Amino acid sequence: MILITGGAGYIGSHCTLDFIRNGYECAVFDNLSEGHKEALQTENFYNGDLSNIENIRNAFKKYPIKGVIHFAASCYVGVSVTDPQEYYYNNVVNTLNLLKVMLENNVKNIVFSSSCATYGNPVYTPIDESHPQAPINPYGKTKLMIENVLQDYDRAYGLKYMALRYFNAAGADSKANIGESHSPETHLIPLVLQTALGKRKSIKIFGNDYETPDGTCIRDYIHVNDLSKAHRLAFESLQNNAKSNFYNLGTGKGNSVKEIIETSEKITGKSINKKFEERREGDPPILVASNLKAKNELNWEPDFTEISDIIETAWQWEKNRRY
Ligand code: UDP
Repeated sequence: MILITGGAGYIGSHCTLDFIRNGYECAVFDNLSEGHKEALQTENFYNGDLSNIENIRNAFKKYPIKGVIHFAASCYVGVSVTDPQEYYYNNVVNTLNLLKVMLENNVKNIVFSSSCATYGNPVYTPIDESHPQAPINPYGKTKLMIENVLQDYDRAYGLKYMALRYFNAAGADSKANIGESHSPETHLIPLVLQTALGKRKSIKIFGNDYETPDGTCIRDYIHVNDLSKAHRLAFESLQNNAKSNFYNLGTGKGNSVKEIIETSEKITGKSINKKFEERREGDPPILVASNLKAKNELNWEPDFTEISDIIETAWQWEKNRRY
C-alpha cells in the first residue's frame, strides 16, 4: 500500500486517483487543514498531523505501507515570506518526522513534491535540472532543504527518493469531480474563471511591464493529471531499483497572464474584467521547464499540451465545484 500525505489536497487527490486507476492500493494521511474530505479518493484515510510523530507511527501500524508520496506542505509563497516559521516547521520539521518513521519501518521509497521555486530567479530559460538552485523565498528554501536532506539520507540510510519540481499545476480531472479549491485562492486560473462566473469583480494582472512579448508574466501550466502520472512513473522507477533522482515537471511551453485571460474568455464565452496592478513581489518574468529529462528517463509524456484544453477542465470544475 502507498501512503499519500496531503492526499485530500488538490494535487494529492488527483495523484491518489491516478494510482488507484492503475491498480494500486493507497492510504491518505492528511490533517484536512487545506485539504477537503470530499476530495478523498479512498476510504483508507488517516486524519493526522505530521507534526505529531505518534500520528505517523499509528498510520504506519494501521496500513502496510511500502512507499510514500509526500505532498503535505504549506504552499503559499507570499505567506512564507511573512510567516517563515510556519513554513520551516510544516515543510521541513514535519517532513523529518515522516522520514524518521519511514526509516523506523524500513520503508525506503519516497516521491517528494518539490518545486521550480527551488531555482529562484532564472538565469536562463527553459530551466533544466542543472540550473542553479537559489530560491528567493522561504517556501522555495524549504523545498530545497528537503531535497538536500533526502540526498544525505540516501547516502547514509539508503532511502531512495524522486524529487519532482513542479511548474504551475492547473486543471482538474474531467470525470472524478475533484479540482482546485484553496482558501484563500491565489492562483491565476481559478481566479480568472471565478471572475468569468461573476463570483469576483475583476482579475488583477500583476505587472504589465515585464520583458515578455505582451508585458505580462509567462508560466508553464501543467495539467494536474499529467503531474499525477509523473508521480506514478517516478514511484514505479524506484520500485525497479532506479537511483534517486530529480525531475522538472512542466509542459515546456509558456503562456502569459494575458493569454490565460484571453483563452478563458473564449472558453467561457464571457468577457473578463481586468485591472492592471503593480508587480507581485518575487515573481520572475518567465518560468518555463525543460522537461526532457522526465520524458527520456521516466518515459513520461504530458497528455495535455494545449493551454485551452487545460483551462477547459478547470472551467468544468469551476462551474460544478462541490467544495
Ligand atoms: N497572477 C496575476 N494575478 C493574480 C494571480 C496571479 O497576474 O491574481 C500572475 C502571477 O503574477 C504569475 C502568474 O499569474 O505571473 C501565475 O501565478 P500563480 O499565483 O497562479 O502561480 P505561481 O506562479 O505564483 O506559482
